Amino acid sequence: MTQTRRQFLNTSAMAIGTITLLPYSARAASHSNDIFMSGDGEIKVHPVSHASFVMQTPVGTIYSDPVGDVAAYAGFSRPDLILITHHHGDHFKVETLEGLVGDNTQIIVNPTVYDKLPDGLKAKSKQIANGEGAAFKKLTIDAIPAYNLTEGREKFHPKGRDNGYVLGFNGFRVYISGDTEDIPDMRALKDIDVAFICMNLPFTMDVAAAASAVAEFKPKYVYPYHYRGRDGGTQDPAEFAKLITEATKVRLAQWYGTA
Ligand code: ZN
Ligand code: ZN
Repeated sequence: MTQTRRQFLNTSAMAIGTITLLPYSARAASHSNDIFMSGDGEIKVHPVSHASFVMQTPVGTIYSDPVGDVAAYAGFSRPDLILITHHHGDHFKVETLEGLVGDNTQIIVNPTVYDKLPDGLKAKSKQIANGEGAAFKKLTIDAIPAYNLTEGREKFHPKGRDNGYVLGFNGFRVYISGDTEDIPDMRALKDIDVAFICMNLPFTMDVAAAASAVAEFKPKYVYPYHYRGRDGGTQDPAEFAKLITEATKVRLAQWYGTA
């Protein structure tokens, strides 16, 4: 067992003791807006950092693009399901996955990530490409395209390579954009309850493009995420919120700590 993994187990075990319960329950309380009701029960959303988040759902605990220190996930159960959108370092890190996976963890990845996985993780993984789907217990998972449209930015996320995901919880639908611009595939989405929408430059899009797409497909709730960028490309989620019409409620969350 690796050092990181032992560390994770230790902190995980401590989290149910009284000493470390406080920070976890404080976090839960501050995120009371982040509970959604699906037909099969509650879905709780826990932003971790940038593109990484955890959802506690009726089909189990789902980690989306978990990267960074495994200690950041110590307050959560081991993942039943991990979704990876693409291979960039802010979405995919082998060491993090190795520290997080349990015996029964299922991983869903795009083909590029699949090719980069060591054999142990590959055995737990299923690759799906744009337009393909998978199932996990009662959950349906559809791979949605994620790519750049703007001339000069196609190299970041070429069309056909990376995934976004639509998750279907018995009629309750969650969209995870991955890294993309306001592509027609996003604008055409239907009946999305909760959407996670990226925005940063030069890699994805600005708040205006993100808001324009959201106005078109009208999710019930939207989380702006993945909004720090390079060379002044950071996007302001509050500015994004001002552009969103009443049809959609915006959930602003701590994606970058308290800084
Ligand atoms: Zn990317
Ligand atoms: Zn990214």
